[in-house]
Amino acid sequence: MASPDPVCEECDGTGYRILDQAEGPSRAVECRCRQGQRSEYLLDQARIPRRFQRCEFENYHGISPKQQLAKQQVERFGREYPVPEYGLLLMGEPGVGKTHLAVALVNYLVREKRVACLFYDFQDLLKEIQNSYNSDSGTSELAVLQPVFTTEVLVLDDLGARKPSAWVADTLSHVISTRYNHVRTTLFTTNFLDKPSRKEDFTLTDRISERVRSRLHEMCRTVDISGEDFRKDIRKADHRALR
Ligand code: ADP
Repeated sequence: MASPDPVCEECDGTGYRILDQAEGPSRAVECRCRQGQRSEYLLDQARIPRRFQRCEFENYHGISPKQQLAKQQVERFGREYPVPEYGLLLMGEPGVGKTHLAVALVNYLVREKRVACLFYDFQDLLKEIQNSYNSDSGTSELAVLQPVFTTEVLVLDDLGARKPSAWVADTLSHVISTRYNHVRTTLFTTNFLDKPSRKEDFTLTDRISERVRSRLHEMCRTVDISGEDFRKDIRKADHRALR
């Protein structure tokens, strides 16, 4: 972790300041400069992709009623954390802001509660595990998975995006079971629904297996987000502005 700011006027660079109390002895408390550095460190460790780093609750627009409700549910989860013993499963069509809300929660938990979080696109995680099998890679499967197992809050983004296979289902099941057994919070996002509007579309169960879907039922509350694809809305608005 970075050392405290050496020029901080409040703590003279010690990282602590003395709090005099009206009653009882004085006590040392962590200085704001050190807390700030800790948030920066935690944000760095959270591995949020650059494209999403500015996602906050404040810049999420609840355009449809379901988006408004979803935002309220995720914000409430953040305020109540660590009380909820369940995770969240954010389900909805592409572009409605599931990743945005998941990252907004990570930003909030790091800044307001100094919680260690980790963000992984599920496909990237699978790729990293597969690369670790390559003897030249210098990392082992366990080295990749260890932080995924142990971080206090994990976001697994885009579940089901990868073509399902027994290996994918087993890997996901391993991650989920390990975190479930240690009562660690996990948030998932997925574009796949339980009841897609078009009959020909895959369900989430089709993509992640029945076993994993039922485990998610046990460990998560579902946040159902539907609305317009925000990216299309922006494109439409840009288009209108050009006319
Ligand atoms: P999803 O995960 O549902 O596919 P994303 O969160 O990746 O959608 O959203 C795509 C882009 O659109 C991101 O840059 C995100 O910040 C933005 N976006 C999506 N929905 C909203 C919204 N309701 N308010 C503000 N930005 C949004």
